[in-house]
Amino acid sequence: TCCLQQTKAGIIESAYKPLTIPDNVDFGSFILSHLEQYKDRPLIENGLTGVKYSYSDVISKSLKVASAFKKSGYKPGDVIAVFSTNNPEYLLVYIAAAAAGLTTTTMNSAYSAKELKFHLENSECCAIITTEELVSTVKEAVGTSETVKLKEIIVFGNSHGCRPFSTLVEDDGTALTEVYSGNAKEDVLVLPYSSGTTGLPKGVMLTHHNIVSNLLQLTVLKLDTSDRILGILPFYHIYGMVCILFSIITNGCSIYTLPKFEPEIFLSTLSKNRITCVHLVPPLILFLAKHPLVEDYDLSAIRRIFSGAAPLGKELVLKCKERLGVQEMIQGYGLTETSPVVHVSVPPIRHEGSVGTLIPNTAAKIIDPETNEILGPMQTGELCIKGPQVMKGYLNRPEATADMIRDGWLYSGDLAHYDEDGHFYITDRLKELIKYKGFQVAPAELEALLITHPDIKDCAVIGIPDEKAGELPRAYVVSNDKSTIREEDVLNFTKANVAPYKQLRGGVEFVPEIPKSAAGKILRRILRDSYKNKLND
Ligand code: ATP
Ligand code: MG
Repeated sequence: TCCLQQTKAGIIESAYKPLTIPDNVDFGSFILSHLEQYKDRPLIENGLTGVKYSYSDVISKSLKVASAFKKSGYKPGDVIAVFSTNNPEYLLVYIAAAAAGLTTTTMNSAYSAKELKFHLENSECCAIITTEELVSTVKEAVGTSETVKLKEIIVFGNSHGCRPFSTLVEDDGTALTEVYSGNAKEDVLVLPYSSGTTGLPKGVMLTHHNIVSNLLQLTVLKLDTSDRILGILPFYHIYGMVCILFSIITNGCSIYTLPKFEPEIFLSTLSKNRITCVHLVPPLILFLAKHPLVEDYDLSAIRRIFSGAAPLGKELVLKCKERLGVQEMIQGYGLTETSPVVHVSVPPIRHEGSVGTLIPNTAAKIIDPETNEILGPMQTGELCIKGPQVMKGYLNRPEATADMIRDGWLYSGDLAHYDEDGHFYITDRLKELIKYKGFQVAPAELEALLITHPDIKDCAVIGIPDEKAGELPRAYVVSNDKSTIREEDVLNFTKANVAPYKQLRGGVEFVPEIPKSAAGKILRRILRDSYKNKLND
């Protein structure tokens, strides 16, 4: 169905027939119309407690919460924050805030008080909604700050000095006379923060139009109303928010939420509820492909596994497919700044390891980062993106915005190429490339190779500075419990498999675990810092 469409200028247009994306549809009306469509069906269930809401429950309850927001005096444009692990009520907040014209900002539920304080100040929010467990972190963050001006702390459950979320759900609904509809292309619906993999996280302003567009564009991935989805990836991250939480509604599916990853609970939730589609990130794919516990559970209902947010090697895809007997391993690519999806591989999948083709209404080009010249098929360069899902900008960061969006193109900072069929392949981040004597080595390529070694459980590769060569690739390896693998074995393994300039001349270090973000990204900066500290010791 998908072949390459390329204009003369080297710009690749999506091969899908363009969709009609309405210019001024607000998210509240959009999502409510989908909710209405599936009225009596089950929508969302807490995988731990069994608390559940049908599609009609979500309509009535979120409209009541929206009314309560209005009674509290929150006005269109005000920002409210959600600081919470996954639960069904998270969804009520998103919809209620949209209906009341508020912007929802989200943050990592593992934040310390200091990180939270930065986020609350930066986003200038007026209220925060949190869990009982996290209230103390919120109080600590607010207590030390003169600039955080929260009007209230709302809590899922009960906690001293906080307003219980249940009182909002029990509102009479009278203050919401109509669902907010303003300027869909200007009004910021959600304000998630980029993951902070490469620096401090930035507030990403995504409009109603951005999110509605991406949800419409995502309909190329046909989910079924009978699909049961797992909500394990964080709802505060754009992937969990749009591709999981919002997109189940546009597809009429149901979802089971889990607050965090615990191997047994994860597997038993999948098995017990006969989950059919799972959205994951590479570290969880690695778990499914390699962990012995997986054998003990019946996962035969799974028909699709989605992966995104970080590089996923072809070998790992094949291993996971084979072990679970899953036909469809679907990769997607995107950024917080693109709401998030840009590419997705749609079954039948012919190109393992590819992130798929451009979704409808999206264009891309690959440019040489040094000369800015547009490159052709099979040439690797920086991926630039254009489409209705591209963010409005970073909050209060005009220079950073101007740096990322130039002439209407979003410069992703990722290296990629495409083949003659229009399938894209991501090499790695431009900034993470290791430069050995003028040769470029992508850490993700070495990681994908190392992980295929039977004695290696997990790994990461960084570049370390070297006077003569510029940089040298160095591997961090987590070995299998019973293995006796040594540095020499790892070095011999890479010698046998990759070109001489890619060898691990910076050495191999065995570590108990690889630092990763909740969104599944390897935190290479932590490894670089630990290497620096080691040198200074
Ligand atoms: P920050 O911008 O704050 O440093 P971040 O870039 O990690 O953080 P996100 O917006 O969560 O924040 O991640 C987007 C990035 O994730 C992309 O730029 C790309 O590097 C990576 N990515 C996403 N999907 C894929 C994929 N399928 N394969 C490889 N990399 C991916
Ligand atoms: Mg980024």
